[in-house]
Amino acid sequence: MSSRFLCECGARVEKNLFSGHGIALLVPEEMVDKDLSQISGEALARELVMKSSIVVTCRGCSRLFVIEKDGGAIQSFRPEADAPAGS
Ligand SMILES: [Zn+2]
Repeated sequence: MSSRFLCECGARVEKNLFSGHGIALLVPEEMVDKDLSQISGEALARELVMKSSIVVTCRGCSRLFVIEKDGGAIQSFRPEADAPAGS
């Protein structure tokens, strides 16, 4: 599976979590409720990566992409046009 894809604007979007390109995790609420006192930092990080979707913004057009945790479906969200100043 490729670690990047092309945005509709033509920019290349990196989806490899460990690439250091401002990629974020969308952590499910169930992970926050969990008792984490018995889990090591390393195991917690691994579990967060496994159970979270990846969120990344296109540097070209600011589209937001949400990539399902299984690395499958990708949803994209385009920002609304700039709001008028002062609104
Ligand atoms: Zn784009």
